[in-house]
Amino acid sequence: MKKVIKIKPMKGVIAWYIKVKELLGFFSGAKGSIIGCTSAWDTIYIKEAHMRSKKLIAHELKHIEQMDRHGKIKFMFLYVIELFRNGYKNNKYEVEARGANYNDMIKKYKLQRT
Ligand SMILES: [Zn+2]
Repeated sequence: MKKVIKIKPMKGVIAWYIKVKELLGFFSGAKGSIIGCTSAWDTIYIKEAHMRSKKLIAHELKHIEQMDRHGKIKFMFLYVIELFRNGYKNNKYEVEARGANYNDMIKKYKLQRT
């Protein structure tokens, strides 16, 4: 049985949360805007213009897989430690997610668009 992952457009409260994250990212030297994010409740949020981007969906699903691998709480700790050590771009979880293949990810997870 594939695990069901919800895909939702980034709007409302989530959009505001992302705006704050972008602002914090800007001050810590990250540039660009956030177009997708993965939540701990098996939902991925994607900016409406990118809802059909297979590359972005594969990226976010890889983060779900990473959470499944380590457990959600432990993964969040590991991710933040990586962030402090290596920054965003060279964070090993981001490097792995950037290499994610859509067809591989879709074998493991079933997308539910709501
Ligand atoms: Zn990522």
